[in-house]
Amino acid sequence: MIEFRQVSKRYDSDHTALRQVSFELGRGELAFLTGHSGAGKSTLLKLILLMERPTAGKVVVGGQLLNTMPRRQIPYVRRHIGAVFQNHQLLFDRTVFDNVAMPLEVMGVSHQDIGRRVRAALDKVGLLSKEKMNPVQLSGGEQQRVGIARAVVNKPPVLLADEPTGNLDPELSADIMHLFEQFSQVGVTVLIASHDIALIESMNRRRLTLTQGELLSAGATMAGSPA
Ligand code: ADP
Ligand code: ADP
Repeated sequence: MIEFRQVSKRYDSDHTALRQVSFELGRGELAFLTGHSGAGKSTLLKLILLMERPTAGKVVVGGQLLNTMPRRQIPYVRRHIGAVFQNHQLLFDRTVFDNVAMPLEVMGVSHQDIGRRVRAALDKVGLLSKEKMNPVQLSGGEQQRVGIARAVVNKPPVLLADEPTGNLDPELSADIMHLFEQFSQVGVTVLIASHDIALIESMNRRRLTLTQGELLSAGATMAGSPA
């Protein structure tokens, strides 16, 4: 579902973020992306989201080669990729429901389908009863779950998360990880950038480790295997 072949990313002569990175993630696979600050984790995620382009090598997502994707196609490619960020990027001037509905509104989905799909997504993250609340009224863990509902409302085959538990205590972090596992069990390919070593070890999943832009170990492919 996600394939990197000898991918390098050089921002400028002083900043090479990725060096000949190769790996493959299958359908329904859940993996962690680890490495120190500056190792290239965000850059790798940005290449998948087409927020950056590789300097060399090939990035293939869902069978599509992203390198040569024309700019006008980028919004369509992004529809197939859910993204969750540490600071969740929720809007506090609207309800939980409206936050989750945003990607569908942009796509022009009908009013009726939006209602159905938003409630299905909120149900998955256990927040159906809070759809009318403002995100401000929710706890940090609940806010992150709203961010996850928004990322999956569109049923993307790929889900990326950049430090999704950075602001959460260990118990809430484990809850969030459990949600990601549930998505992988229904076939979503999940890649989670994190440096929460204790959490990653507790999950016993494949690990992609970056050191100064090089992939140290790509782990074993364990598509579909239980935790
Ligand atoms: P991580 O997410 O692991 O902290 P990043 O991908 O953010 O790593 O950064 C990897 C390297 O690329 C760092 O040396 C960083 O300074 C550099 N870098 C990241 N973004 C840019 C940019 N827009 N311009 C120049 N250098 C960048
Ligand atoms: P730029 O105009 O600087 O290239 P982008 O269009 O790449 O910016 O991204 C704009 C904002 O949207 C960024 O803050 C980014 O984090 C966010 N973003 C990009 N792709 C997604 C996505 N698939 N899901 C959620 N947020 C996204």
